[in-house]
Amino acid sequence: MEYMDITIAGSGVLGSQIAFQTAFKGFNVTVYDIDDEALERAKVRIRNLEQRYQEDLGALEEEVNSAYNRISFCSVLSKAVSNADLLIEAISEVVQIKVDFYKELGKVAPEKTTFVTNSSTLLPSQFAEATGRPEKFLALHFANEIWKNNTAEIMKHKETDMKVFDEVIEFAKAIGMVAIPLYKEQPGYILNTLLVPYLEAATCLVMKGIADPETVDKTWMIASGSPIGPFGAYDVIGFNTPYNALLEKEKAGDNQAAEVAEWLKTEFIDKGKFGKESGEGFYKYPNPNYMKPDFLKS
Ligand code: NAD
Repeated sequence: MEYMDITIAGSGVLGSQIAFQTAFKGFNVTVYDIDDEALERAKVRIRNLEQRYQEDLGALEEEVNSAYNRISFCSVLSKAVSNADLLIEAISEVVQIKVDFYKELGKVAPEKTTFVTNSSTLLPSQFAEATGRPEKFLALHFANEIWKNNTAEIMKHKETDMKVFDEVIEFAKAIGMVAIPLYKEQPGYILNTLLVPYLEAATCLVMKGIADPETVDKTWMIASGSPIGPFGAYDVIGFNTPYNALLEKEKAGDNQAAEVAEWLKTEFIDKGKFGKESGEGFYKYPNPNYMKPDFLKS
């Protein structure tokens, strides 16, 4: 089955990007979120992406406008999925929120709809039963700034139908991604198996008083040649997802995760600093220090 009508559930940092990329590649997109206020925020987010596509990809104004016009917005789940071939879930990284969502979705979605989760660290098998259609459920995981960091990790669980797995691979390619199929479940896929410990190690250095965030980033950037360090990356990711992932680890008894979560909350989230999208995280935007020409020199 070739997917044409795509619904994106959750219109935050990643959901907005997935929606716009999918529409940019010519698909009909419906964006679903919990209420109309969340959808109004999504419209602003998506409009802001238009400029990035023009700057980074050389997209024309008429192309980004017609992509935006292929997106509709709806806060009623049954309506949002009524014609969906594929539903991409990008809601908050909280197990119970996702379980409740899939239970409801399984009831209202047409039989034809395949569900995929964009979860960063959770496994499809954690939600397969709640979906009511385990054979039509798997993970399709994107990286932040999807239009240029274009990996799509496609990961099945034991009951995923191979035909559906292949269809999702084809869809990922059709929206401009480099498809990376994973046949065995792994929390964090390839990308976050590497990225999450890297970010945690960076926060440990700061919390132990070894170095400040800019020094950590500078060291990494000079020594590895990378254009961004762990704290710059944190800002791009946005703090909601790492924070929720840390709380899930805390629930599983990880004390260090609890400490980092508390630090992120009191020092940043409670002060309205959520990363790049909010104008401030570890750096201030739009001109963060780590991008200034002398950052790596002094
Ligand atoms: P976010 O906090 O920016 O957005 C989450 C969105 O989900 C919000 O708009 C919220 O209103 C909505 N939401 C919450 N409960 C909902 C429900 N029951 N129904 C519909 N919408 C609901 O989070 P994010 O960073 O975009 O992450 C979303 C998902 O994508 C997570 O699973 C995360 O692990 C994954 N992800 C994030 C990144 C990243 O870099 N931020 C990268 C890859 C994958």
